[in-house]
Amino acid sequence: MAKKVPLYIDGRFVDSETSDWIEVTNPATNEVIAHCPVALPEEIERAIASAKAAQAEWRQVPVPERARYIMRYQALLKEHQEDIARIVAAETGKIMADAMGDVWRGIEVVEHAMGIPTLIMGETVEQVARGVDTISWVHPLGVCAGITPFNFPAMIPLWMFPLAVVCGNSFVLKPSEQDPLTPMRLAELWNEAGLPPGLLQIVHGRKEQVEQIITHPDIKAVSFVGSAPVGAHIYRTATQHLKRAQCMVGAKNHMVIMPDANKQQVINNLVGAACGAAGQRCMAISVAVLVGEETRDWVEDIKAAMAKLRPGVPDDPEAAYGPLISRAALERVERLIASAEEEGATLLLDGRGYKVEGYPNGNWIGPTLIDNVTEEMTCYKEEIFGPVLCVMHVDTLDEAIALVNRNPYGNGTSIFTDSGAAARKYRFNTEVGQVGVNVPIPVPLPFFSFTGGKGSFYGDLHPYGKQAVRFYTETRTVVERWFESDIPDGHGPNMTINLR
Ligand code: NAD
Repeated sequence: MAKKVPLYIDGRFVDSETSDWIEVTNPATNEVIAHCPVALPEEIERAIASAKAAQAEWRQVPVPERARYIMRYQALLKEHQEDIARIVAAETGKIMADAMGDVWRGIEVVEHAMGIPTLIMGETVEQVARGVDTISWVHPLGVCAGITPFNFPAMIPLWMFPLAVVCGNSFVLKPSEQDPLTPMRLAELWNEAGLPPGLLQIVHGRKEQVEQIITHPDIKAVSFVGSAPVGAHIYRTATQHLKRAQCMVGAKNHMVIMPDANKQQVINNLVGAACGAAGQRCMAISVAVLVGEETRDWVEDIKAAMAKLRPGVPDDPEAAYGPLISRAALERVERLIASAEEEGATLLLDGRGYKVEGYPNGNWIGPTLIDNVTEEMTCYKEEIFGPVLCVMHVDTLDEAIALVNRNPYGNGTSIFTDSGAAARKYRFNTEVGQVGVNVPIPVPLPFFSFTGGKGSFYGDLHPYGKQAVRFYTETRTVVERWFESDIPDGHGPNMTINLR
């Protein structure tokens, strides 16, 4: 019998009492590798109560001491990067290089959290009136919560709880029920780093369990990453319950290709950005916008490069990417490819029905290239989340900008060009939160923030970086007056350098 995934409550890994279990499968074989519990309401209640009690103690812990716990956690994550990546690969199907990247991009956020003493500084103005000073202090919120998607089971939880906790909060995480084993490994290492029990709680489940968390009176802020309809619902519900919310959601990312771009660079970068991780990245390039007549015949070169990619299992060094996460995801992507054909697009590469030798039951899909796509087509309107690239043609950079701006999403985009002027014009005029110039997937490192925009984000403050510190804290302002006439006599000398 495949193992049961525990809950992590009050610093202990405990079996749920539920009778409702979700199968966790290996996407390359569809074998059941674990059973994920749908937590009972009282278990979630216990987790939130424990988080609340732990936070009351934790906010007293000096900020540099909090940072030292996070340093120990960072060292453990680095030491165990490969074993975490193996779990990522087993439950998501990602090839090992990609799974290692998933963990690494999370470790980078933890490294940033180590700098909390400078990140959490407030502001002061001395002498706002005679003898009066004003100081703003940065305080934790209390208990924060995170709801995470399947596609980065290491990186996205690590976007959230280390920073929330180092800011002085505690955190309740509800990871994706499709790959809960990776976040549990992150929790084991958290335990090993010696953090006081209760600061991180992990509960599992679906819609109802999320609902209980995001409406709970003791939850002060909700971070969500996932699909757009769910994110919109979570944003509305959490804010209606007077909580802070940040919801990072779906995407449709365009790469604009100018005729003066280096063709080989375009092709290498485009193919990887479209098919890497089987296209299951919120920053994957899913639309190539070719500008000008001269670029029309580049489609054949793109096709030749994509045709060389083949999916495979995590340890296959030749595999470019792995299977899709589930049968349902596979059926959805196949349906969208079929719709493109029915709606008049040109299917240049069709990845449906792809077989990988030795793995007949995997959720495989080959690289898929669809040309002559228009804005009305379903394959353009919906996020595909598979190794599928749509190609569109426009005559000018202005038309490309207008096309990208008409799209409701705004997570990421890139332009490939040799012209600084074209790049600047694109960067200045596109209404997208993250822009790459000759960089296909412009995800900023954690000292910036992940600034997806427009319909790809609901909220004000983005994940990681300075914005996330503001999201997980509130500012209190103190106005102080001291009267010189009240200065008492001295206390005698202090011969040490310690504060007392
Ligand atoms: P999903 O929306 O199905 O699930 C995300 C989380 O929400 C899971 O924990 C799930 O259990 C929970 N959930 C699902 N339905 C719910 C409901 N009705 N009510 C409350 N909670 C519910 O997303 P997914 O398929 O796991 O992830 C893929 C999506 O995530 C894609 O759309 C992708 O673009 C997006 N994503 C966005 C970013 C970003 O930063 N913008 C990053 C990664 C993934």
